[in-house]
Amino acid sequence: MGAPGAGKGTQSQRCATLLNVPKLSTGDMLRSEVQAKTPLGLDISERINRGDLVSDEIIVGLLADRIKEKDCTKGFILDGFPRTVAQAQALDNVLASTGMSLDHIINLKVNEEDLVKRFTGRRVALGSGQTYHVENNPPKEQGICDQSGEKLVQRPDDSEDVVRHRLDVYYEQTAPVIEFYRSEKRLEEIDGMNSVNEVFEDLCTTIGVNNSELHKFSRTGSCCV
Ligand code: AMP
Repeated sequence: MGAPGAGKGTQSQRCATLLNVPKLSTGDMLRSEVQAKTPLGLDISERINRGDLVSDEIIVGLLADRIKEKDCTKGFILDGFPRTVAQAQALDNVLASTGMSLDHIINLKVNEEDLVKRFTGRRVALGSGQTYHVENNPPKEQGICDQSGEKLVQRPDDSEDVVRHRLDVYYEQTAPVIEFYRSEKRLEEIDGMNSVNEVFEDLCTTIGVNNSELHKFSRTGSCCV
């Protein structure tokens, strides 16, 4: 959990690599639909570009189907889901029906002004979902994804006015999810303002895994999104 730009994408990718489980990013799933110009993609592209949320029904349906796939049987990391209390409740039901439950719900805490600054330099590889920052977490070759070799782009919803709107949407619709989990004493919190490696170390400690494999992640940076 965490506001847009808190570092969910970067940290969840690292956790997924370390634990060898898939990272399920609902944002990535939706962007693939938009890129492939599927009927769903055409329907939702405007909402995404404006920074508004896609309906709970669509997103819960997508996620429920995805976690039934074979690669999820040993677990998975969720990134960008749930974003409303209704999604959080639906997630508990979907997991219960498959005999699974959430092991950890982690909130990356960050401050709003720093978030807006982070976005201006964010670049993404749309295919692989890898994220970079032009200054704080650059790829080895400028503008090219280290892993997939794809061209890096700026997301249309990363401009300052859209980012401010996404933050408003976050405080209105997603902050209550944090409160929901906090009130049920299921929430664990980490300071997301530290460096990428420090946040990752805190995450590893929180989920109780050995972080001796940190050297795998050679990219350094004081803050990347
Ligand atoms: P993200 O990459 O997680 O920042 O998501 C990008 C955009 O996809 C969001 O601004 C929403 O428009 C949409 N989106 C992603 N996840 C969800 C979700 N769980 N519920 C509703 N909309 C979502």
